[in-house]
Amino acid sequence: MHEFKYKRNRFYCEKVKIEEIANKYGTPLYLYSYKTLIDHYRKLKKAFSEFKPLICFSMKSNSNLTLLKILIREGAGLDIVSGGELYKALKIGADPKKIVYASVGKTDKEIEDAIKANILFFNVESEPELKAINRIAKRLAEKVKVAIRINPDIEPGTHNYITTSKKEDKFGVDFKRAAKIFKEKNKFKNLSIEGIHLHIGSQITKIKPFKEGISKTIDFIKKENININYLNIGGGLGIVYSDEKPQTAESFARNISGLVRELDINLILEPGRFIAGNSGILATKVLYIKETPSKIFIIVDAGMNDFMRPVLYQAYHTIVPDKKISAYFKKKVDIVGPICESADFLAKGRRFPLVKEDDYLIVLGAGAYGFSMSSNYNSRPRAAEVLVKGNKSYLIREKETYEDLISKEIIPSGI
Ligand code: PLP
Repeated sequence: MHEFKYKRNRFYCEKVKIEEIANKYGTPLYLYSYKTLIDHYRKLKKAFSEFKPLICFSMKSNSNLTLLKILIREGAGLDIVSGGELYKALKIGADPKKIVYASVGKTDKEIEDAIKANILFFNVESEPELKAINRIAKRLAEKVKVAIRINPDIEPGTHNYITTSKKEDKFGVDFKRAAKIFKEKNKFKNLSIEGIHLHIGSQITKIKPFKEGISKTIDFIKKENININYLNIGGGLGIVYSDEKPQTAESFARNISGLVRELDINLILEPGRFIAGNSGILATKVLYIKETPSKIFIIVDAGMNDFMRPVLYQAYHTIVPDKKISAYFKKKVDIVGPICESADFLAKGRRFPLVKEDDYLIVLGAGAYGFSMSSNYNSRPRAAEVLVKGNKSYLIREKETYEDLISKEIIPSGI
C-alpha cells in the first residue's frame, strides 16, 4: 500500500497534485511520501514486536538525510556499507549504537572511523577482514564487536545481480569457515564476536529462501554450540512493482518467528526496499513521441543516469501518465531516455495510454535504489528530491547545477 494514486483523474502524492510539484521543481524529479515511508517502517516494527528488534534501515537503498531523519526519529537504526554512509549517518544524528556495517571491502580508514564512532558492530565478510579489524582495534586499544556474515549457499530466487547467498557469491563465509572462526576466536584478542549476520539477496518475494537460510543458520548455531547475542537476518523483503504477490510484514514475521524463538537472542533486520521502495516515485516529462517503421518510442527527460534499475536488473516498474487517459497507442511502445545508449530505457513493449509531448509520466516504486544509484553520466545534473507530507511539499535535495558538474575538476596549468 502506498500514497500515490489517481484522484479525479490526476495523480497525487498524499494530498498534493504531482503536476504542481513537477511544474515547480522541474523534471526528472524524485518525490517521496512521508506517510508511506513511516507506515512501512511501522508495519515491520509491529509485525516483529514480540522480539523488540532493532530495524536498521539499509542506507544504500536511499540515503537522503531527511528520509533518514524521519526513520531515526521513529527509532530505526542504520545498515551502512561505506565510510560515506557512516559520515551521513552521524551527520544526521543516528545513534552509533544502532549502526551495523557490512561490505566485503572495508578499507583501514573506514574501519578506523567506524571503531572511533563506536558503532554497534561490523558484519564481517572474510577472515582477512577479521584480521584487519583486529589489527586496527589493537592499535586503537579497543575491543570491537563483530558479527560473522554467513553465506548459507541457498537459491533466493531473485535476479542474479541481487543474489548474495550462493557459494559463488562474494559475500560472507560458508558454515565450515564460520565454525573455524568461532573455534579460533581467541586468536582475535581485540574482537568480540557477538553475532551472526545473514543477507540472502534482495527483492525476494517467497518465504522459502528466508526460512531455509535462517533455519540452516540456527541449526549451525546450535550444532556448534555458538554463544552469541545477536542474530541479524538482513533485508531482502520483496515489494510490489507490477503483479508480484510478496509477503506482508505480518506473514513474513509469522513464518520467521518460530525459528527465531528457538534462540534467546537480539533480533536485527536490515530492510531497505521494503521501507523506501514504494515510498517514492520518479516524475519525468515526455519530450517527443517518435515513430519509426518498427516502433513507437516515448522519449522522456529521465535517463538511465537518473534511474538505473530497468537497465541494470531488467526491472519492471509500473509507469502511468499523470493525467488519466482512456485512449491507447495502437502499437506497443518503448519508453526511453535521452542518453546515448540503447540500454537507456524505462520500459519496453508496453501497451500505453496515448500521451503527448509535455505530459508527465510517473515511474512507481522508485524510492529504493533510485536516486541512490543515479549518476552524472552524459554530464547530466542529478535530479531534485521532494518530500510530501499531507498537503505540504518540501524540497529535500536541490537539482544539481552545471557548475556542480565541474566543481571537482582541475585543469593543471601548463597542460
Ligand atoms: N543488508 C545488506 C547487507 C545488503 O547488502 C542489502 C542490500 O543489498 C540490504 C541489507 C537491503 O536489502 P533490501 O533493500 O532488499 O531490503
